[in-house]
Amino acid sequence: MSKARPITDHSRLSINTATTRAQWGLAEAIDGYARAGVSGISPWRDQIAEMGLAKAARAIEEAGLTVTGVCRGGMFPWGSEQARIEMLDDNRRAIEEAATLKAQCLVLVVGGLPAGSKDLAGAHAMVEEAISILLLEARAAGVPMAIEPLHPMYAADRACVNTMRHALDICERAGEGIGVAVDVYHVWWDTELQSQIRRAGRERLLAFHICDWLVPTRDLLLDRGMMGDGVIDIPLLRGWVEAAGYDGFHEVEIFSELDWWKRDPDEVVKICQDRCLTVV
Ligand code: ZN
Repeated sequence: MSKARPITDHSRLSINTATTRAQWGLAEAIDGYARAGVSGISPWRDQIAEMGLAKAARAIEEAGLTVTGVCRGGMFPWGSEQARIEMLDDNRRAIEEAATLKAQCLVLVVGGLPAGSKDLAGAHAMVEEAISILLLEARAAGVPMAIEPLHPMYAADRACVNTMRHALDICERAGEGIGVAVDVYHVWWDTELQSQIRRAGRERLLAFHICDWLVPTRDLLLDRGMMGDGVIDIPLLRGWVEAAGYDGFHEVEIFSELDWWKRDPDEVVKICQDRCLTVV
């Protein structure tokens, strides 16, 4: 298996603002990434709300950054009718925000089991029902929706869609305007990864998120590694998505309470850039 060609510049580097969220708010991240020569940004909705949507849109545009995703919509399964209404409203706002920011996609973390539930199949059905409702609105707004399958350790509380196969099955039933965000952290272990990436093809591959899997992993959520510090063969996986036709951004997304969130954010950005030229 030949790997992807080396990366020689930062024209396809995007940084997800989670990577510097402990140090920088959105305004600072926009400035910091642009100042370093990063080309894309993927903001989180709490940070967008804090800055103000219109102001964020203007600042991102002025900085010349491409919005490679908005994080996040989803959290679909509901425990009551009221929760269902609120979930749909919140996702409609997420679609609007993604449209205003001209985002390449709205990332969907689909949600796990409602509190107290053991009905996994029921949660899966709720995910598909919510997607079928919201996809019409996302299409009308011109916002592609990207299901991000999460590692199975999050099945109960964050996302009950854990494989590319499941995500793509949902996409096929849903039709156009929906695809997947491939995050190496969540799917690197999957024996079907290469074949499912091929199945997704250019049309359904909407985002490529990178970081690394540390051994040992000290926290289920907040101990992601910098590319090159763990066990994921990122060039191999990048080669697979590119062979399937993906030519979009490489979005660095690192939640790291124990390490990278403690560092100087300008240094974090610089190291993201360096690692993209050497180990991605
Ligand atoms: Zn991701």
